[in-house]
Amino acid sequence: MKYIDEYRQPELAKKLVDRIHRRSRKQIRLMEFCGGHTVSIFKYGIRQLLPDTIEMLSGPGCPVCVTANADLDKAIALAQLPDAIITSFGDMIRVPGSYSSLQIAKAEGNDVRVVYSVLDAIQVARENPDKSVIFVGIGFETTAPTIAAGVLQAEQENLSNFHILSLHKLCPPIMKSILDLGEVRLSGIVCPGHVSAVIGSHPYQFIADDYHISCVVSGFEPLDILLCIDMLVEQIENEDYKVEIAYRRGVKPEGNQQAIKLMESVFEVGDADWRGIGVVPASGLILRESYEKFDAEKNFEINPGPVREPRGCICGSILRGVSTPLDCKLFRQTCTPEHPVGPCMVSSEGSCATYYNYGDGDGG
Ligand code: SF4
Repeated sequence: MKYIDEYRQPELAKKLVDRIHRRSRKQIRLMEFCGGHTVSIFKYGIRQLLPDTIEMLSGPGCPVCVTANADLDKAIALAQLPDAIITSFGDMIRVPGSYSSLQIAKAEGNDVRVVYSVLDAIQVARENPDKSVIFVGIGFETTAPTIAAGVLQAEQENLSNFHILSLHKLCPPIMKSILDLGEVRLSGIVCPGHVSAVIGSHPYQFIADDYHISCVVSGFEPLDILLCIDMLVEQIENEDYKVEIAYRRGVKPEGNQQAIKLMESVFEVGDADWRGIGVVPASGLILRESYEKFDAEKNFEINPGPVREPRGCICGSILRGVSTPLDCKLFRQTCTPEHPVGPCMVSSEGSCATYYNYGDGDGG
C-alpha cells in the first residue's frame, strides 16, 4: 500500500476486526502510549470495534500533558524577565501552571510567541539581538533531533542570545517507571510510531523480556492500529512475548541512527519531572556541558515559587493509566477545551480533549 486512503479501507479493517474477535480469548488490557494513537483510536471508533475481552488504556505520551507544573512555572518565570522573548509551540502557551500561564504572561505585556519549529525561534533570535530568546523545548525522542539541529545552527551562527529550556523526555524509561509502579496490569503496549521511527524497536525489548508484556509498534491509520492490536492478541494468546513492528513503512528495528547521533551530540540523558509521576531518573534530555551557553536554566536566575496543582484535576492519574477523564468531576463541567483546568484538556493529543471531542470511546 502506498497511499493514506489504502490504510483506511473498510473491507480490510473488517477482516482484521473479525480476526481479532476470532482470536481473542483471554481478558487483556492494552495501553497505547502515544496521544496521537489515542486520538486515532477515538476518531475511528476503534474501541467500539473490539471484543469485550480487550480493554484499551491511554498512556503518558502527550508531551504537553506530561510537562510538570514546576517546569511550566519556570517557563512563565523566564517570560517575566526583562528583555526576554519566550517562544514555544501553541498548546504550551495555554497550559495553566501553578499561578499563571504563558498566555496570561503575554496578556500582562511579556513577549511570548508561538512558533512552529525551533528554526522559527532561531529566526526570532536573529531579528532581536538585544533580547534573550528562550525556546521552551518539549517532546519525546521524535522532536529532540530537530531541536539538536537548531542548537548546532545557533552554535554555527554564534547566536549568543538564543537559549533552550529543555523539557524533553524519553519514552522507554517512563514505560519502565509506569510498569514498576504496578498500579496498572498490562498485557500489551501499542508502542509509539513517531518515537520509534527515531529510536527503533530494540529499546522496548526489556518490556517483553523482563515484564512478559507484548510490544508492537503502530502507525496512526486505522489499519495500522488494528493490525497492531491483532499482533498483540496473537502474542498474548500464545504467551509469546516479544517486540514487533506493525508500522514497517515508518520504523526500522535499529531506528534512525543519524537522528540518534544528532540528538546525542547535543543532549545527554538526565532526570526529568513528569506530571503525576514525579522526577524519574534518566528519563529526560539535558543540554551537554559543551552547549551550556544555550541552557536557559544555567543562564538565568529565576524563582518560580512553590508548585501548586490545579484543584480537582486528575491529569496525573490519567497519564499513569489509573483513571480516565470520565473519573474527573470537572470533565465537561468546569473543564472544557475553551476553559481548560489541566493540560490533558488543552493539548489536542490530551486524553481529556480527545474524550471531549470524540465521545467517551464507548459510543458516547
Ligand atoms: Fe484535569 Fe480537566 Fe482532565 Fe479533569 S477534565 S483531569 S480537570 S484536564
